[in-house]
Amino acid sequence: MADTCISCKKDISTIENSVIFKCPKCGEKIVRCGRCRKLGINYKCPKCGLEGL
Ligand SMILES: [Zn+2]
Ligand SMILES: [Zn+2]
Repeated sequence: MADTCISCKKDISTIENSVIFKCPKCGEKIVRCGRCRKLGINYKCPKCGLEGL
């Protein structure tokens, strides 16, 4: 299964500098693509609602 960006829902395997990390609050997997990171779009955890950059 492909990992898709939490913000733009794009497949991160085709986008450079993408990251996968765990939510610091609840441990849910957060996927962000390099494009959204570059644009400074905040992520929001789908599980606990934590927002961050
Ligand atoms: Zn994205
Ligand atoms: Zn969370």
